Amino acid sequence: MVKIEDVLKNFKSNLNRERKNRILEAYEFAKKAHEGQKRKSGEDYIQHSLETALIIAKVGMRSKTIAAGLLHDVPEDTDKTLEEISKKFGEEIAFMVDGVTKLGKIKLRGSQEEYFLENTRKMFLAMAADIRVVIIKLADRLHNMRTLDHVPEEKQQRIARETMEIFVPIADRLGIGEIKGELEDLAFKFMDHENYNKVKHLEDKLYQEIEKYIQRTKEEIEKDLRREGIKIIEIKGRAKRLHSLYLKLQQHDMNIDRIYDLAAVRIIVPEIADCYETLGIVHKKYHPLVGRIKDYISLPKPNGYQSIHTTVFGPEGKILEIQIRTKKMDNEAEFGIASHWIYSEQEKISWKRFFFKGKAKFPEKELVWIKQLREWQNEIGRDDDEFLSGLKIDFLKNRIFAFTPRGDIINLPEGATPVDFAYMIHSDIGSRTMGAKADRKIVPLSYQIQNAQVIEILTSKETKKPSQDWLTFVRTSNAKAHIRKELKKYEEMAKKS
Ligand code: MN
Repeated sequence: MVKIEDVLKNFKSNLNRERKNRILEAYEFAKKAHEGQKRKSGEDYIQHSLETALIIAKVGMRSKTIAAGLLHDVPEDTDKTLEEISKKFGEEIAFMVDGVTKLGKIKLRGSQEEYFLENTRKMFLAMAADIRVVIIKLADRLHNMRTLDHVPEEKQQRIARETMEIFVPIADRLGIGEIKGELEDLAFKFMDHENYNKVKHLEDKLYQEIEKYIQRTKEEIEKDLRREGIKIIEIKGRAKRLHSLYLKLQQHDMNIDRIYDLAAVRIIVPEIADCYETLGIVHKKYHPLVGRIKDYISLPKPNGYQSIHTTVFGPEGKILEIQIRTKKMDNEAEFGIASHWIYSEQEKISWKRFFFKGKAKFPEKELVWIKQLREWQNEIGRDDDEFLSGLKIDFLKNRIFAFTPRGDIINLPEGATPVDFAYMIHSDIGSRTMGAKADRKIVPLSYQIQNAQVIEILTSKETKKPSQDWLTFVRTSNAKAHIRKELKKYEEMAKKS
C-alpha cells in the first residue's frame, strides 16, 4: 500500500511548504472524491491515484504534475467536476487533468493500422500541448498494467496490445527507459504468456549465477579503476529485461548460450573524459569483441541516449556487456525528459533560460526533440511566464502536424504545402517531387496542408530542376533555401554548357 508520505519522500527537488501543501491538498480532495470506490483488485480507488503520483514523483516531475496525477480520475469517475478542480487548484492543474481525461477516451477500434495511427496522432498532439499530460498518462497506464491481472481476459489483450504499440514507443521517444522497460515486459506477459513464461524460466534458472558473476566483475573493475585514479560514482549490474531478452533469443534459435549481453555492468563516472579513460582500462583488463564497441557519446541515439557500450570477454572468459556513462547520461536514460527538470533545479537553470537564452549553459546534447520544441517555440517568439513555468507549449495555433504514410510526424508552419513537407523529410525527396496526395486524394503542390493529414509525396526516379513557381507558395525557409540552391546549380550548369 502506498501512502502520501511515500510520494513526498520521492519528490526529487526542493519540497517547500507551498509544494507540499499543493500535493497534500490534491490528495485529500481526490481521497474524498473517490471515497467508497474500489478498484477491480478490491483495493480502495485512491491507491491507483497514489501509485500514479508515486511513479510521477520518481521520474522527477514537480508538484503540479504530481497533484494532477492524484486528481487524474476525479472528473471522469466521481461527482466532482473539472470546474471545481480549476477553482481549487488553478487552471494549470485543471488543464493537465482535462488532458489526461481526453486521452483516456482513446479506444482501440477499426483496423490495427488505422487505430495505431489515430492514437499516435492524438498522443503526439497532446504531447505538443503539454508534455506533462503524456507523462501522467504513462504513469496511469503503468499502474493499470501492474494490476491488469484483475481485468477480464479479452480486455487484457486489448490493453496489452495498445500498451506495446502506443505507450512503449512514446515512453521510448521521451527517453524514459525505466517506464518503457517495465511497460514492455508487462505487455509481453499478457500478449504472449507462453513465450513470456519460457523466457522467465530461463532467466530465473540463471539468475543467481548471473548475480554472482556480476558481483565478481564489479569488484575486479572497481579495483583497476581505483588504481588508475578514476573516481567512480557507481557501478551497477543487472540482468537483461525479459522482452528484450526474448527478442534476442528469437534471433539466436532460442539458445541462451548465444546471448552476449545477458548481464550488463554499468560504470558511472564523473566526466566524459573519464568515460573514455575507463573504456581503455576495461579493454586492458578484458579483451573486447571486435565490432561491438558502440560510442553513443559522440553519436547519440535519436532519442538522445548517450553511453559507451562494449562487449568483452569478462572473468572466466565469459562474454559480457559493459556500459560506461556519466551520471547525467544515466539520469537521462532512466528519466528522459523528466531528468531535465531535475537538472534545471540542481543547476539553477530555469526553463526560461533553456527555452529562450538558448545555448546559455544548458546541456549541449539535450533530447533531440526537446531541441526541436525549443526551436519551434523560438520561431513563434512567445515569452510569457505562465507558459514557462508550465511548459505548456501552445504553438499549435501556428503549427500543424502532418504524417507520412508510415506514421512519422512532420511538424510544419500553418499554410505549409506538400513541397515544404517533401523538403522537410529530405532534400532529395524535395528535388524529386512530382505530385502529392493528402489523405489519399491527389492535391496540387500549392495545396495548404491541414492538421493531422497524411501526406504522400509522389516522386520521380531522378532529381530534376525545381519549378521557379514553387518559391511563390512554399512557407518554410528550409524549402526556400533548397529550391534556390538547386535553381542556382542548374543556372550555372546551363552557363557552362
Ligand atoms: Mn487512472
